[in-house]
Amino acid sequence: MGKNILITGGAGFIGSHLSKRLVKEGHNIICLDNCFTGSKSNIQELLHLNNFNFMYHDITNPIEIDEPIDQIYNLACPASPIHYQHDPVKTVRTNVMGAINVLELARRKNATVFQASTSEVYGDPTVHPQVEEYWGNVNPIGLRSCYDEGKRCAETLFFDYHRQYGVKIKVVRIFNTYGPNMHPNDGRVVSNFILQAIRGEDITIYGDGGQTRSFCYVDDLVEGFICMMNSDEEFIGPVNLGNPGEFTIKELADIVIEMTNSASKVTYKDLPQDDPKQRKPDISLAMEMLKWEPTIPLKEGLLKTISYFLTLEGDTSDVFTR
Ligand code: NAD
Ligand code: UDP
Repeated sequence: MGKNILITGGAGFIGSHLSKRLVKEGHNIICLDNCFTGSKSNIQELLHLNNFNFMYHDITNPIEIDEPIDQIYNLACPASPIHYQHDPVKTVRTNVMGAINVLELARRKNATVFQASTSEVYGDPTVHPQVEEYWGNVNPIGLRSCYDEGKRCAETLFFDYHRQYGVKIKVVRIFNTYGPNMHPNDGRVVSNFILQAIRGEDITIYGDGGQTRSFCYVDDLVEGFICMMNSDEEFIGPVNLGNPGEFTIKELADIVIEMTNSASKVTYKDLPQDDPKQRKPDISLAMEMLKWEPTIPLKEGLLKTISYFLTLEGDTSDVFTR
């Protein structure tokens, strides 16, 4: 028998992949979204299915659902710096009020509730690679703080609802994830570089390109979500989910240029405020507790992502033959 599962932010990049995977497994999905950065086009193929329902709602408002709910994945929150800085006060409200509304629903329904937290809780880390025990190095008043501190407060709420009310929680810290359905205009490095390369525009590196990130393909991440949600009830996290392969931003630019056979040149722009210098997950805990680790190497994932953006741009040429 399928479970009744609510996914907030289910029309977004990661949420749409999670929705498709869980629908395919035969669960009954309620996909809740206010379509700020997500879109029904990401879940178009699911809209007509009997075991999929779309609920237009903003999680800053209380969530009323009549049916029983077994599991809740809380993904609703803009994730890219451009989007979360567009209305920073709203970003804090989404993280904090949203978490309270989702946790209250979980409490009423006796559901297990999963929080999509982030590597941003580590800020500009002084411990490398990042382990879950590290408390982070976050500027509380900077441009990224609405997201970083909002997500940190959401983790606090999850653990307090667990301790105070016995709500069953699961908290994961997601590291940079990429793949099809990324928003083309959200300014994230993977989507920017691919679009710039296939349009023949300059590739914009912020700073000297020496900063590092670790990129996880979305299918690997979704697998990790499901392993965590269905793990032993005692294991509540937080647990890092990401691909430990670490690349400088300059290396990523070179790989994308090579894979798209692009004539684009690299151009250097100012580094945004508080941009973390290095980021790489230590995933020992996920490997031990969830028996999970990513399986899709960067070039393989990039190939699928480049194909997606080529189609979006109306270019039907095969990536291999460009
Ligand atoms: P996304 O912006 O594509 O998806 C977020 C979804 O939430 C969108 O569909 C958006 O419309 C919806 N949303 C935003 N505010 C809402 C609100 N107030 N009420 C209802 N819906 C709302 O981003 P994503 O990359 O899919 O990220 C999903 C989650 O994973 C986010 O919580 C994000 O913080 C977290 N995360 C993502 C990454 C990453 O690399 N993509 C890394 C760390 C954490
Ligand atoms: N970045 C870049 N050029 C771009 C977009 C991003 O050099 O066009 C850099 C950005 O400054 C950061 C890294 O790439 O150092 C990852 O940025 P992204 O916004 O994708 O994620 P986050 O900073 O949240 O990890």
